[in-house]
Amino acid sequence: MHPRNEANRLLADEEVRRPLSPLVWQQCNRIISSWLTGSSNKISRSARSCAKIIKENLQWLDPLFQRYVETSFNRCQDPCCQATSIFFDRTDLLYLHSLATSIPHTQTRTKSDDPCLYLAEQGCVLPRIHRPYICTWFLCDLHYECFEEEHPKTQREFVRRLAEISHYRQKLSLLYDPEAKY
Ligand code: SF4
Repeated sequence: MHPRNEANRLLADEEVRRPLSPLVWQQCNRIISSWLTGSSNKISRSARSCAKIIKENLQWLDPLFQRYVETSFNRCQDPCCQATSIFFDRTDLLYLHSLATSIPHTQTRTKSDDPCLYLAEQGCVLPRIHRPYICTWFLCDLHYECFEEEHPKTQREFVRRLAEISHYRQKLSLLYDPEAKY
C-alpha cells in the first residue's frame, strides 16, 4: 500500500497478531503512527494518557514478575516464552506509539514455528513495558504459586493493576476503532 493511503486505513487486530515479515511489521507501525499524528488533539491526548497509565501499572508489576521468574526459573519444564502463539497485537502497538517510546524492531517471529526473536539465554531482552501484554497477564502455574504467597494486600493491588491495564487498553482500542470488539 502507498504510504499516503495508510493514514485512512483501519488496521485489524488479526493483521498484527500473527507472524510478520519486517516489511509488513513496518507497514503496521506506519498505519498506527499515521492514525496518531492525524488524530484530533483530544484523541491523541487521551491515547497518551491511557498509555501513561498502562506503563505505570506495568512498572509497578515488573519487580513482582521479576521475582516470580527468578524463583521458578530452574523448575519450569515448559517456558511460556517458547510458545509459538505469542504476538504483539494491535492494542500493543497503539500503546507503544501513544507512549512515544522506541518500538520493538520486529514482531515476535516472522514464521509460525520460529522461536520468539526476543528470547535470549537469560530470558526476554525487552523491558516489560515494551513486551506484548500477553507476556505479562498470563500467569503460569509456577508464577501463580508465587502470587499466592504474596500478602493479601499485595494480591489485591496486583489484581487491581491488571484490571486497570485491561481497562485502559480497551479504551485505547476504542479510541482507534469505536466498533472494536475487545
Ligand atoms: S517477547 Fe519476551 S516475554 Fe514475550 S515471549 Fe518473547 S521473549 Fe518471552
